[in-house]
Amino acid sequence: TALVACRQLARVYGHGTNALVAVHEVSCELRPGDQVAITGPSGSGKTTLLHLLAGLDRPTAGRIGWPAFDDRPRGRVGVVFQGPSLLPPLNVVENVALPLLIAGLTDTEAKERALAALGAIGLADLAGSLPEELSGGQAQRVAVARVLAAEPRLIIADEPTAQLDSDLARQVVDLLTQVACRLDAALVVATHDPRVAARLPKTWTMSDGALAC
Ligand code: ADP
Ligand code: ADP
Repeated sequence: TALVACRQLARVYGHGTNALVAVHEVSCELRPGDQVAITGPSGSGKTTLLHLLAGLDRPTAGRIGWPAFDDRPRGRVGVVFQGPSLLPPLNVVENVALPLLIAGLTDTEAKERALAALGAIGLADLAGSLPEELSGGQAQRVAVARVLAAEPRLIIADEPTAQLDSDLARQVVDLLTQVACRLDAALVVATHDPRVAARLPKTWTMSDGALAC
């Protein structure tokens, strides 16, 4: 069963003379185990496509579905963004546990699962740290632990290594591929960095809103 499938997808921002076609005629499908890099210049539509695949945005035209989730992607998709995404007042384990609390787990269950995810990624020592005490690489690995704890089947990462040097970038993308394998999930990583793309078995290229698979 496809985790997400889309046909002839388009997303147009604005109207009339201000209309900007960010994505058009995109058809693609992701199944468990698929690991794909999406490359392409800035402004080519990568972020827009990832938001559509994650169900965070609606297409202007075309069809998109999440058959494996009964077409309800909300809460079933793990997302990693480029910037700092941890909430500053919460410590690391609280940040990792937050989506689980929102999903309805009890405090104890959420904390246990958060600690297990941090442990699996080798970050148990940071559980009590505040986000401001972390390096950029540590913060992105905590963001990956937060995805792992939520156990999604579809993982979408938008420039997750943009602010890291190349060694750390490789570590973070390798961690994402390991987490995806462990969850039998599909992984999509948008990246400008050819060295990051090379860590993934497949690359799709975006150009002016069109996708070449
Ligand atoms: P990329 O991730 O490849 O840089 P984006 O999907 O961010 O590409 O952007 C694709 C195009 O859509 C760009 O021209 C961008 O300026 C435009 N765009 C993106 N988001 C919006 C928005 N919310 N409103 C209007 N235009 C947008
Ligand atoms: P990327 O790092 O993928 O290139 P951007 O920096 O282009 O992303 O965009 C960051 C955010 O700003 C996105 O949420 C995008 O939707 C929004 N955005 C991008 N271009 C525009 C635009 N022309 N008008 C309004 N919002 C935009």
